[in-house]
Amino acid sequence: MKRVYNFAAGPSMLPLTVLEKVQQELLSYQDSGMSVMELSHRSGLYTEVIRGAEQLLRDLMNIPENYKVLFIQGGASQQFAMIPMNLLVKSGKADFVNTGSWSKKAIKEAKKFGEVRVIATSEDENFTYIPKVDSTMIDPEADYVHITTNNTIEGTAFRDFPDTGNVPLVADMSSNILSEEIDVSKFALIYAGAQKNIGPAGLTVVIIREDLIGHAEETCPTMLDYKTHSESGSLYNTPPTFAIYMAKLVFDWLSDHGGIKAMQKVNEEKARVLYNYIDGSKFFSSPVRKDSRSIMNIPFVIPNRELDTAFVKQAQAKGLETLKGHRSVGGMRASIYNAMPLEGVQALVDFMREFEEEHI
Ligand code: PMP
Repeated sequence: MKRVYNFAAGPSMLPLTVLEKVQQELLSYQDSGMSVMELSHRSGLYTEVIRGAEQLLRDLMNIPENYKVLFIQGGASQQFAMIPMNLLVKSGKADFVNTGSWSKKAIKEAKKFGEVRVIATSEDENFTYIPKVDSTMIDPEADYVHITTNNTIEGTAFRDFPDTGNVPLVADMSSNILSEEIDVSKFALIYAGAQKNIGPAGLTVVIIREDLIGHAEETCPTMLDYKTHSESGSLYNTPPTFAIYMAKLVFDWLSDHGGIKAMQKVNEEKARVLYNYIDGSKFFSSPVRKDSRSIMNIPFVIPNRELDTAFVKQAQAKGLETLKGHRSVGGMRASIYNAMPLEGVQALVDFMREFEEEHI
């Protein structure tokens, strides 16, 4: 069986042991004679899965009691609308930090529901850094402040989170949730599409402080109201049962490997190995400012853009998959989420060294 190192931005690699467990349990989950895919979402066996997944995530992220964990569909993109529908309801004003393509999409959607102000942006330098945000920039009346903690396309990440005082801080953590320790209590709402560090696509995780639930307008569609999902334990309708089951296995895997603290160490080491090589190279370079670098998504470029295609193709022949950069940045991008082992990054660096020697 051939397995490759998959550097895709998402869907991306899953831990092999998780996939093996899925394979082993696929036809008959816990002697039920049924696959998890065939189990009723209201059955006792499935209740253990969904509540187990929630508890594991609570333990891993140290989520305080006064937060709800919701398993929703529609991707992080649906949250771009659900958040303003539920939160942009008091002053009707929200402050956004614009750090790239995904922030822009969130801003565009929120504008449909209220008054949106961009309080800081790095668009002047093609989103290659994280702009400074201090509390004086924030409208104390704003219903919330929105940030994208890790910018999947541009390869930047917030190292310190802005202090928003009493204004709720909302964060799109799609591409760095579970990759490093964070203090959940600093945020009012955290959301993430599953297909990077959590599990397969089709599931979106929302971690929301309870006091923010229940304020949507009467006209808010039932499925877009956080209250619906909160009151039903994410079982108002049929949830993405198999994706939640796989997320639970990924959370188990994380717990078995020392939790987020241990994962963060490995992630930092992986990013260090790759960035050390790029920064020391006379051929490859990083478009991202040093103080703003993501440890999950690492873009890099070479002087002769015409060699991009050759790089990606030759890497693929060596089992290093999906290294083509996003069209807005060009060059290459290595997404090295939790499931990418250090050996995968080392294999990439070995190949980059060979390629550099061949073309410099
Ligand atoms: N936000 C970020 C930071 C992302 O990386 C992505 C997807 N790559 C999205 C939002 C959109 O997520 P989805 O495809 O789940 O809607």
